[in-house]
Amino acid sequence: MPDYEEFTSEDFDTRLIDVEYSAEDSENEVNLRPQTLDEYIGQAKVKENLRIYINAAKFRGDSLDHTLLYGPPGLGKTTLSQIIANEMNTSIRITSGPAIEKPGDLAALLTNLNEGDVLFIDEIHRLPRTVEEILYPAMEDFSLDIIIGKGPAARSIRMPLKHFTLIGATTRAGQLTTPLRDRFGVLMRLELYTHEELATIVTRSSDILGIKISKSGAEEIAKRSRGTPRIANRLLKRVRDFAQIMGDGEITKEIADYALKQLEIDELGLDGTDRKMLTTIIKFYDGGPVGLETLAATVGEESVTLEDVYEPYLMQIGFLNRTPRGRCVTKAAYEHLKMSMPDRQTKNGIFSESGEN
Ligand code: ADP
Repeated sequence: MPDYEEFTSEDFDTRLIDVEYSAEDSENEVNLRPQTLDEYIGQAKVKENLRIYINAAKFRGDSLDHTLLYGPPGLGKTTLSQIIANEMNTSIRITSGPAIEKPGDLAALLTNLNEGDVLFIDEIHRLPRTVEEILYPAMEDFSLDIIIGKGPAARSIRMPLKHFTLIGATTRAGQLTTPLRDRFGVLMRLELYTHEELATIVTRSSDILGIKISKSGAEEIAKRSRGTPRIANRLLKRVRDFAQIMGDGEITKEIADYALKQLEIDELGLDGTDRKMLTTIIKFYDGGPVGLETLAATVGEESVTLEDVYEPYLMQIGFLNRTPRGRCVTKAAYEHLKMSMPDRQTKNGIFSESGEN
């Protein structure tokens, strides 16, 4: 990240859309997070199944099976795991893969858990391998294998652990090792939210924050939040500033539209980086295919950021295809950017509107 002085307007756009947690999100974060499954909006299938698993586990007096939540950032994985702990009437310990550096760190966490507790590990695909190996017996047999001593005198002892539920969250389930993935009893994929669900989230957050908002104002913010609650809440807070300075404090469709234009977020929620990504593929690679690494280097972004943050939404709205030979933009993207499509592309079959390349 550049120093503050070096920020360009584009960096600010990116930060607004960036689905990673930022300090700004901490404002009323605790209040905005739904506490129960009923308050959690959308993800109907996930909720329905979870309700069954939770009730069944409670009925048996058992802990919930280890659960893996996967999907793009900002969709509510942390929130959902806190809800699971609430619904199970247990406590939750929150940590993340990169934060657990040594096997001893994880051993300390595990031995401090109480019966039925939830251990939430965000970005679980980034756990060091040596740490991950401690998890296998812990997940399977609720026990910890510890080596005591060194050299020929070393011996392994097995320590029992309390029954706990591990909830792992990841943006990339494919990067989990098979032994780890296989030890989760429940695998759940969170999907991008619909406009209607996001509008409900925006209205709920406005109520909590004491912001007046019209139905069409909430819909306008929802439409531009790229299917992601974290972005919806962030945009709501920014648009509120415009409403307070320019109007009487109420967020109307007009104010939302004006504010989001000022923030350079277009009517589909695309920001500067999205547009740069698409125009780069069009201008430099004739619409694709182009490999992810090459594209990342040309756009000046990390390839993981493009893959985790930008691509899911661009693919969802049908602007980008992932093909075995690389990324391709679609006709819809050309039209949205008001750029003309070279004839060659449609003729030689590189371009496919359906994504079936
Ligand atoms: P993740 O862990 O997937 O990155 P979070 O759980 O931190 O995402 O969610 C980001 C924010 O979005 C939360 O602070 C919460 O306020 C909001 N949020 C997420 N999912 C929902 C939902 N289903 N209903 C209402 N708000 C939600």
